[in-house]
Amino acid sequence: MIGLISATSAGQRGCEHLAAAWPDEVRVYDGPVREAVGRAFAECEQLVCFLATGAVVRMIAPLLRGKDTDPGVVTVDETHQHAIALLGGHGGGANELAQRVADVLGCRPVISTATDAAGVPGLDMLGWPVEGAVAAVSRAILDGDPVRLDTPHGVHPLPALPPNVTAATDSDVSLIVTDRVTDADAAAGTVLLRPPSLVVGVGGSRGVPADEVLTLIGSALADAGLSPRSVAALATVDAKADEAGIVEAAERLGVPLLTYTADRLAGIDVPNPSDAPLAAVGTPSVAEAAALAAAPGGELLVPKRKSAPQEGPAMATAAVARRRPRGRLSVVGLGPGARDLLTPRAREELRRASVIVGLDQYVDQIRDLLRPGTRILESGLGAEEERARTAVEQARAGHAVALIGSGDAGVYAMASPALAEAADDIDVVGVPGVTAALAAAAILGAPLGHDHVSISLSDLHTPWDVIERRVRAAAESDLIVTFYNPRSRGRDWQLPKALSLLAEHREPGTPVGVVHAASRPDERSEVTTIAALDVTTVDMVTVVTVGNTATRNVAGRMVTPRGYRWQA
Ligand code: SAH
Repeated sequence: MIGLISATSAGQRGCEHLAAAWPDEVRVYDGPVREAVGRAFAECEQLVCFLATGAVVRMIAPLLRGKDTDPGVVTVDETHQHAIALLGGHGGGANELAQRVADVLGCRPVISTATDAAGVPGLDMLGWPVEGAVAAVSRAILDGDPVRLDTPHGVHPLPALPPNVTAATDSDVSLIVTDRVTDADAAAGTVLLRPPSLVVGVGGSRGVPADEVLTLIGSALADAGLSPRSVAALATVDAKADEAGIVEAAERLGVPLLTYTADRLAGIDVPNPSDAPLAAVGTPSVAEAAALAAAPGGELLVPKRKSAPQEGPAMATAAVARRRPRGRLSVVGLGPGARDLLTPRAREELRRASVIVGLDQYVDQIRDLLRPGTRILESGLGAEEERARTAVEQARAGHAVALIGSGDAGVYAMASPALAEAADDIDVVGVPGVTAALAAAAILGAPLGHDHVSISLSDLHTPWDVIERRVRAAAESDLIVTFYNPRSRGRDWQLPKALSLLAEHREPGTPVGVVHAASRPDERSEVTTIAALDVTTVDMVTVVTVGNTATRNVAGRMVTPRGYRWQA
């Protein structure tokens, strides 16, 4: 139960707000405040007090028993700007409660405990198993003490780690990224991070029991000193995709079962081919070949071995390969400028990366969000292809790279040159962003209520006759048009020309929206008409949206009806 206490009418509104949001979880304590706090403190697991922090400190001070029994206490200030985790941040759940209160009331959570020692800062987001002295190593990382980073299998796509975590120190406190079961496992100051690096190739006769497969996998890994927690997948031949014992083994390990055609496996060089599988499924190797197929560019760590059941013939084979770590390229749209139009996912990806590649002005937009230790490769305007190549090269080297762009990174931006360079040896993640046309439309009203196109008027990347053909097509088909890159110092005739093409099919009074610097401090916008537009107000930080024949100016807003049966 969460006890709610307030003294003022603003506080009471806050209580009501929370009570409406969490009807089954809260109890409102009325009456004299000191008494209400006392009762709630005794009866509830958590308290939210709409009271001054100092007042609450004085009231609860005599009631404090200990970390294990005291409730978590959150205070909220009179203007509902801050939800302060005052007592029991971890044990009492006050940190989490402050965040929940903040979500409901739209205020800021204030949390003053050090990062929960249950996780290694930044590495939790990988979702990779972590073993060892997590609390001690987390503390050392936070405190800035030297921590040795050991990555024996190459570069992994880890998030940026602070500068005190490096390969170049010989501290006793260490962070090891490995699939090996090492002597260091037991060492006091070591954390082991288990990358998803191992693939187990398996073969089995019809009816092989799952237990036999799992026992074989377990002993193959143990004898080679490999951690089962690094197993990323099982792999086999297509013909065994439905073999119940193999399917169940994958399920029980919690990993996918990858399957390959016999032809594909037959084409892979293996140390121990044999005739039996060739006769049965058409490839001289299942376990070794499947393991290697699932680990391109990797190495075979455990050659084929057979199961050793207590009775009867061996029915399973297994082999283990290690994958090369795959780098990660995320292509992240930052939105039009305002911080609150940057999506939470984009923010997460920026903190997931160890390398940021982008235009310097975009890096400036998000520099404060980056983890300390993030490598920034920024460049000036132009150099687009070089930027794309750099991002892909860094990912190919194994790093976690975020390639950033304003708006949506795929709209007249970096995603296409980057992905044109990238092969299938890296993972690619796209994070959509609010593109300028949408940011502008929201300012103008509802101009994009019907079919619309974006056309860039930059003839740097596209010959003008192609642009002109598209503008004509848009004009003829009565599409709403948003012009990107509309006008710069050296390119001043394109916009008037494009407008005149549209005017061949639209009235001079057709609404036109001009939005400069959408969502930025110098935002400026205007709803005008084709005839009245002053093109000198348009620059390279502007988009121009021209309505279709049904678009109207309604109360100063640009509105395109959803259908063509417009009722004025
Ligand atoms: N990837 C970007 C577009 C890059 S092309 C996006 O999705 O928004 C650059 C053009 O986008 C500029 O010339 C301008 O026309 C437009 N633009 C970008 N940000 C803008 C903003 N905040 N306000 C108005 N126009 C913008």
